[in-house]
Amino acid sequence: MGKLSHSTELLQMVVCPRCHQSLVALPSADVPVSLRCTGCGLQYPIVDGIPILLMDRGKQ
Ligand SMILES: [Zn+2]
Repeated sequence: MGKLSHSTELLQMVVCPRCHQSLVALPSADVPVSLRCTGCGLQYPIVDGIPILLMDRGKQ
């Protein structure tokens, strides 16, 4: 039985709202603090385990 964290499962579902590429967690540790788009490079904060995928919250 594999044990995936909620954030890992969530990461497989969410894509960048701007370019629709996949996102990677930063840092790649147990508790990521932000997501970075592999396409356009925008970074999105993770607040209380919830990725904030708003374009105006993203930083380049
Ligand atoms: Zn993007």
